[in-house]
Amino acid sequence: MTDRYASFVQSGAGRALVKRLGLPDPPRLRRHTPGDPLLPGPVLLGAATGGRLGDPVAAILTAAGVDVRTGTGTTPPAAGHDDSAAADGPADPGGRNERAGNGGAPAGGGTARFGALVYDATGVTDSTGLRQLYDFFHPQARAVLPSGRVIVLGTPPAECGSPREATAQRALEGLTRSIGKEFGRGVTAQLVYVTRAGDAGTPTSLEATLRFLLSGRSAYVSGQVVRVGTGPAAVPADWNRPLAGQVVLVTGAARGIGAAVARVLARDGAQVVALDVPSAGDALAAVVNEIGGTAVQLDLTGPDAPTRLADHLADRHGRVDVVVHNAGITRDRTLGRMDADRWDSVLDVNLSSQERINDVLWERELIPEGGRLVAVSSIAGIAGNRGQTNYATSKAGVIGLVDSLAPALAGRGISVNAVAPGFIETRLTARVPLVIREAGRRMNSLAQGGLPVDVAETIGWLAWPASGAVSGNVVRVCGQSLLGA
Ligand code: NAD
Repeated sequence: MTDRYASFVQSGAGRALVKRLGLPDPPRLRRHTPGDPLLPGPVLLGAATGGRLGDPVAAILTAAGVDVRTGTGTTPPAAGHDDSAAADGPADPGGRNERAGNGGAPAGGGTARFGALVYDATGVTDSTGLRQLYDFFHPQARAVLPSGRVIVLGTPPAECGSPREATAQRALEGLTRSIGKEFGRGVTAQLVYVTRAGDAGTPTSLEATLRFLLSGRSAYVSGQVVRVGTGPAAVPADWNRPLAGQVVLVTGAARGIGAAVARVLARDGAQVVALDVPSAGDALAAVVNEIGGTAVQLDLTGPDAPTRLADHLADRHGRVDVVVHNAGITRDRTLGRMDADRWDSVLDVNLSSQERINDVLWERELIPEGGRLVAVSSIAGIAGNRGQTNYATSKAGVIGLVDSLAPALAGRGISVNAVAPGFIETRLTARVPLVIREAGRRMNSLAQGGLPVDVAETIGWLAWPASGAVSGNVVRVCGQSLLGA
């Protein structure tokens, strides 16, 4: 499914028209291609007084080949430039166009432009200290290149030594989410809470997350709060193949998001076991032939499905390092009109089958230490949705599965996370009526729907052996959708 409006806007003629009429202006997003540099320009790295992450982050970025600058980095915009929310915010896409037109150069004559602004805010211990973030970001508000990144690093409020520190650290969320809505041109903004407990191992535990968030892999992820803990993180020999040697199961892999997950994980070095219903056998075969994986034709709701799947994994591979629970269905009706079959089938495919499969894989010890479990939820599971009580219940249940399993499996080095896609261009969303479809596409900070590959790249990051310190997270891949914000 293509977004004709976005294609039109990204053409020369479309751009001029959209600018004149003040219409939404979906930017062309920077997406990952193997071998790409992490960023389109240098990183400006700042830190609040007393921060604990500046040095490890500088070391990670330098090792990744990034040009790291410290200090204020550019001259502040000249007095009198229009810096109002009306000029920068989504209410005035024309304001964003202007900056896109000059390549994102800072207003007022400053010359430095950055691929990313990264700020270590762990030294902020009370609300007055937040002024340091204003001082850092204010002069740079127009200095970030298109599809650049803003990352703020903080300490989880629950770990803070005083209520004042916890208050200030919690406040960081409002700043990053607002930057995600203000900067435009495909720039994304995230807050990463890094546990103090992991300080000794910070360079390794944080590296995977920084690499993902800075790169084009995170094109459609914005306004997120990611928690980095202490799990074991194995650095890959080659960051272009972060899943080398891993055996990965992807359910619902014949099309849409699941097929994209299979492709991306295979590109990143994994041996992919792709599963789908027998009626999707031809499409599934096409995917596995393309990526050199193996196919399992199985209806997940069948009574013997977990055992048959476990047998296949045991016989062929002896284990499964990563399980991606992606298969899902919708059977929409408002609750009063919903028959029990619609309720039962959605809950069974989207949630109960995942539990049954997990149980058998644990029992047969097929998921080794350091394993990864990634489930696909939805923003409907966070916000709820009219006509989707069954679907939203199942997808909220997936979040419950993450919340309950992540702590239980931490001792075995197994991470459990979910992604919650927003509007993604697939057959599922192509069936949505036009007006609702257009609203779904535009009501987010990036003014466009995501692509299956955007969800796949996010799942890939959570699956990496290097991401062991990321567990218990639900990461939305929604372009910072207004739904459930
Ligand atoms: P899709 O319908 O294109 O693909 C789903 C795949 O799952 C299909 O290949 C289907 O055959 C398979 N499947 C369904 N029931 C199965 C069963 N019983 N056993 C085995 N395989 C089965 O959907 P999609 O858009 O690619 O969605 C993938 C996942 O992402 C789903 O969990 C969906 O709920 C979720 N999601 C999608 C969006 C979106 O915008 N497309 C948004 C939020 C969440």
